[in-house]
Amino acid sequence: MSDPCLFCRIVRKEIPSTIIFENDHVVAFRDIDPKAPTHVLVVPREHVSSLNDATDGAMLGALLLAAAGIARTEGIAESGYRAVINTGGDGGQSVGHVHVHVMGGRRLAWPPG
Ligand code: 5GP
Ligand code: ZN
Repeated sequence: MSDPCLFCRIVRKEIPSTIIFENDHVVAFRDIDPKAPTHVLVVPREHVSSLNDATDGAMLGALLLAAAGIARTEGIAESGYRAVINTGGDGGQSVGHVHVHVMGGRRLAWPPG
């Protein structure tokens, strides 16, 4: 049976995406419905449903270090950006595989809606 997790399938390249960075721990690809000029998702290769289920500090560190590196290569590190982990229903999480949104290239409102 095929894996029902969308991001696991993207990690395995069973579903096409625009991958901009990958290493042993994470894969980063462009969001299919970008909400900012740069909108990249960074996901661990290993399936973890949400931040609530994350126990591996090295994996979480790898996600954030990759996010910062992507901000640099996307040219938004100096202008500023946001690294966001939506978690659960009220947090707006719609895909059950933990991911960091890296968003920038425009002024982002605060607080979010
Ligand atoms: P969440 O709402 O869980 O925080 O973020 C999920 C993100 O995944 C959304 O921004 C959505 O646009 C993106 N997304 C959903 N399906 C796909 C897909 O098939 N490919 C890509 N690249 N992004 C997707
Ligand atoms: Zn998954």
